[in-house]
Amino acid sequence: MPIATVNPANGETLRTFDALGEAEIEQKLDAADTAFRQYRTTGFDERAGLLNLAAGLLDEDVQDIARTMTTEMGKPVKAARAEAAKCAKAMRWYAAHAEELLADEHPPADDVQDSGASRAFVRYRPLGAVLAVMPWNFPLWQVVRFAAPALMAGNVGLLKHASNVPQTAMYLEGLFRRAGFPAGCFQTLLVGSGAVESILRDRRVAAATLTGSEPAGRSVASIAGDEVKRTVLELGGSDPYLVMPSADVARAARTAVTARVQNNGQSCIAAKRFIVHTEVYDEFAERFTVGMRGLTVGDPLQESTDVGPLSSEQGRADLEELVDDAVRKGARVLCGGGRPDDLGPELERGWFYAPTVLTGITTGMRIHREETFGPVATLYRVEGLDEAVALANDSPFGLSSNVWTRDADEARRCVRDLEAGGVFFNGMTASHPALPFGGVKRSGYGRELSGHGIREFCNATTVWYGPDPVGATS
Ligand code: NAP
Repeated sequence: MPIATVNPANGETLRTFDALGEAEIEQKLDAADTAFRQYRTTGFDERAGLLNLAAGLLDEDVQDIARTMTTEMGKPVKAARAEAAKCAKAMRWYAAHAEELLADEHPPADDVQDSGASRAFVRYRPLGAVLAVMPWNFPLWQVVRFAAPALMAGNVGLLKHASNVPQTAMYLEGLFRRAGFPAGCFQTLLVGSGAVESILRDRRVAAATLTGSEPAGRSVASIAGDEVKRTVLELGGSDPYLVMPSADVARAARTAVTARVQNNGQSCIAAKRFIVHTEVYDEFAERFTVGMRGLTVGDPLQESTDVGPLSSEQGRADLEELVDDAVRKGARVLCGGGRPDDLGPELERGWFYAPTVLTGITTGMRIHREETFGPVATLYRVEGLDEAVALANDSPFGLSSNVWTRDADEARRCVRDLEAGGVFFNGMTASHPALPFGGVKRSGYGRELSGHGIREFCNATTVWYGPDPVGATS
């Protein structure tokens, strides 16, 4: 894939970039290695000062970087601004909390004594250079949610961003440099996916984190496994959205629209399968379909736009195949079902797809098991909670899940039984710096955000002192 900015709203190529050559990659790996040796010795206060400066700069840049993101991957510009603000918030959160999250852990005195130690504890130390292979869909957020904890822990970052967001990728390197992080602490590598293997195998790279598709995750994990390097994988999702009779159906339907079409429907944690109890199915289906039909599709740089184009022509073709397969096998289209018309001559070459609701889904349809990465919802009718949970779990993915109910027993059963990295009640899944984020099954492993996220790339070091005194060493 060429490294280029191609505007998804009209297909126009705006900028192209040459991929780094071997010598340039070598220089960057060396810079990361050199930077780590010094940066690992800095204290939390120093790191927090730099990260807070980066957050302040990002706040100042919000208009420009939002337009860049929108132009590179098509998200509505108002959502791009919100993404930048969320990144600044996460930077400040890790700046404020990293020290307590990585504080030494002291086992109970009895256990210390039992181990024969006069003193023993666990210290979290950084691992080194972490390679981040990142997707285009939240081009700032995906990177910051790795970079903020990694840098606060004393690691250094190497970013291999998706090939269609090179300007956002370069912006991030510049942002951390402008904030004062030493050269080599955070570098962008403009390379294609073919270069990932040799970089990951390099002895100067300690670990990798990948957010993206299952094939990409499998490849990076197997190379890292071969090299015995730690990985975090954040892969696809097909999150269920359960609506039970006790729910506020009007609010559930309104929220469902946002949960499905956020980021033009290209979010791993978007609700994708709507599983509705028969008692409230008709009301929910009616309200949801009206909401989806009423969305404004158009130029993502316009403030009034709810849904912009998909990020690539291939992405739209993949979505079309899934919908066409379902319709051919008997699914019913409640709204949408194809490309929108009447967008005007300026957008006619853009990669738009109309918000779509499908019902009558059967297990033989590809859409039943595959991820729909665009504004397409599947709607299922069920007779009770057991059937709803079984259907929700009938997926290779297990990222998050959403449940609308006011019944405490139903809620308890959902927490116990849903196979997912999160269960969100009476709302929609969203990430927050203080809450762990990640999945099970083919959605990946490991966690980002919170204390779990910052400890993924730390060496939990056992420090054990025998009876001989060693003074006031800490
Ligand atoms: P993708 O094709 O896997 O690309 C993601 C990143 O991986 C890009 O930087 C890409 O580089 C690189 N890549 C692709 N194939 C690779 C390989 N074989 N070896 C090494 N690197 C490789 O995914 P996408 O289509 O951009 O993103 C959509 C997917 O990401 C969806 O499945 C979505 O659910 C998932 N996602 C998951 C999360 C989460 O947190 N769980 C969040 C967002 C997105 P190039 O661009 O150069 O190909």
